[in-house]
Order: sequence, then C-alpha cells, then structure tokens
Amino acid sequence: MRKQIVAGNWKMNNDDAESKLLVKQIKKSIKRLPLRGTRVLVAPTFVNLKTVVKKSKKSKIEVVAQNMHQETNGAFTGEVSAKMLKSIGVETVLIGHSERRTLFGETNAVLASKVDAAIANKMELIFCFGEQLEDRKSGKHFDVVKQQLQEGLFHLESASWNQIVLAYEPVWAIGTGETASPEQAQEMHAFVRNLLEETYTTALAQNTSILYGGSVKPSNAKEIFSKEDVDGGLIGGAALQAQDFTAIIKAIL
Ligand code: PGA
Repeated sequence: MRKQIVAGNWKMNNDDAESKLLVKQIKKSIKRLPLRGTRVLVAPTFVNLKTVVKKSKKSKIEVVAQNMHQETNGAFTGEVSAKMLKSIGVETVLIGHSERRTLFGETNAVLASKVDAAIANKMELIFCFGEQLEDRKSGKHFDVVKQQLQEGLFHLESASWNQIVLAYEPVWAIGTGETASPEQAQEMHAFVRNLLEETYTTALAQNTSILYGGSVKPSNAKEIFSKEDVDGGLIGGAALQAQDFTAIIKAIL
C-alpha cells in the first residue's frame, strides 16, 4: 500500500548553520514519534544538502533535492545533475515545483526530460503540479492538471511508477496563507487517482502517494490529511520551524 509522507521544502532559506540547527531540531523532535511507515523528508538548498545528509544520519529523516538538471554533465553553468546528487547520498528530487515552472520557465517538455533523467538514474522523484488561480476561476483546473500529468509523466511505463510520488499544489495556495479546502484537495486527488487508473491500472493508482501542498500548517493539517486520497503534505513556510513541522507530522500519525 502507498506510504504517507510529510516533506519540508525549505526553498531558498537557511544558510549552513541554520540548516544544521533545523535538521538537528527535527531529528530530536521526531525521535520518539510512532512514525511506523510514515516518511519524513526535508529539501534544503543544493549547497546545504551534504551537511543535512550528514546531520540526518541515524535518523528517520530523508534528504531531498529541490531541483536538478536533466543532463549528466557538461556546459550547463549553475546546474546540478542526478549523478552528483546521488554521489552525496541524495536519492529523491522535487521536479516541477510551481516556482520552477513560473519563475524559471520550466515547461512540461523540460520537466518530462528531468523525469526521465531521475528515472534513469534510479532516483525517486516528487512530481509537483497544480493550477493557477485563473484556471480555477474559469473552471479549467482539471484540464490543466491533466495536461501537466500527461505531458510530464504519462509517457512512463508502469514499472517506473514505484519511483514516483505526486504532489498537488494549487499555485494560488502556495505561500499565500490561502489553503485549498480539504474538500477541494480531496476532489483533485481523487481526480488524479482516477486518471492514473484510466491511464495505467487500479493497482498503480492505489499504490501512488499523492501529497497536498499549499499553506499547510499545524492548524489545518489534520483535516487535510484525514481525506481519503491525501497521503501527506509538501510543506513550505511551516517546514522552517521544527515545532510546526513536527506538529504537521503528528497530524498524520
Ligand atoms: P507553502 O509552500 O507551504 O509555504 O504554501 C508549499 C510549497 O511550495 O511546496
């Protein structure tokens, strides 16, 4: 069965000392939690990955990269490849976060090649998708999400899907304090699971974890996580404080 996951996306926050401190605090505060199968992930910036990998040894914390380039090496100034991430013990990567799509111009086609690179390098990937406010207002949110998944992921064979986690993040709810209601989240997650079933198989749809992201905080986490098709969260702002992040983890246990 699919796993429950709480992942903290630190975005462009925390220098070296702050990263060390935060991972140390999270490590301490989750030590005695009955996590059972629930996974706890943190995604620091590239420069802090190695430190966080080192500091999270002998803990349940898994370290994730926020992005990567699709090529293995070469003349791509400022970029980092899957091979480099793996060489420092990072096995999971976020692909297609809305900030990458909107601020850095990553198209569905570019994301499909990043997906292929992650799969080829035997990395797990958390594929982010979600509609803009205008899409929702005009009732196009299901179409937009369908297209993002079709163009970014649905070229994959079923066998690759054990390396994939999905994260639905409506752009209008990211960093805005505005959360999708638990019903809106459930509605989209059920739509996506149904799409997986139509495109692949029932078993694949049932085994794929779908996280919700967008202003999840200690006060709303429990209700969102209680929804049948919500398998966890991708947390931005509230993942920067160990206390809030731990409270969100507790909400899913
Ligand atoms: P937020 O960010 O929790 O600050 O809204 C979520 C995300 O962008 O992953």
